Amino acid sequence: MGRYHDAVCRLCRREGMKLYLKGEKCYTDKCPVAKDTTPPGMHGPSRRKPSDFAVRLREKQRLRRFYGVFEGQFKRYFQMAARAKGVTGTRLLQILESRLDNVVYRLGIAPSRKEARQLVVHGHIDVDGRRVTIPSFLVRPGSTVSVAAGSRNLTYFKALQGAAPSHGLPGWLEYHPETLTGRMLTLPAREDIDVPVHEQLIVEYYSR
Ligand code: SF4
Repeated sequence: MGRYHDAVCRLCRREGMKLYLKGEKCYTDKCPVAKDTTPPGMHGPSRRKPSDFAVRLREKQRLRRFYGVFEGQFKRYFQMAARAKGVTGTRLLQILESRLDNVVYRLGIAPSRKEARQLVVHGHIDVDGRRVTIPSFLVRPGSTVSVAAGSRNLTYFKALQGAAPSHGLPGWLEYHPETLTGRMLTLPAREDIDVPVHEQLIVEYYSR
């Protein structure tokens, strides 16, 4: 599967918003998008009004990049959301929030989703006491997510012990920093998901 190897801050400039792809730097004055939201490229922003299709495409790309998901998988998530009960856009966001890499990031165990993904792939994370190395694994309400017992003595994890998540913990998660263990209490409601997208536009994109 392909990976994006270019400068990730370009993606934020393209989407005109912070995608939080670089960990702590994203929360500082060094974030380029905090100063300049012009899209990358030598020609600057287009002066033409974007078409309806372009607006919906942009919104879809924004959400996909926010969670670091590739096109095929994102489409599968949309199909899952469309089959599920409830509002399709909200279900799509709930599925994305339930990804194991996102839960590890939200618990504050990793500074970005990309680094959370690395921790999962390298076998440092357990779900319900069993090692899971698949970042797209969907965590269910009631499941625990913890740092594997064999990894807790690593310098990186020792530094996290006893420290609350530096950017706040969402209400749908519980976290015990002494044991580096969290739990998903419930699926997040739409108002608990701080992603500034209009998900209805994404539903319209796929329904065209
Ligand atoms: Fe770069 Fe993070 Fe700022 Fe995005 S939010 S532009 S990744 S520093």
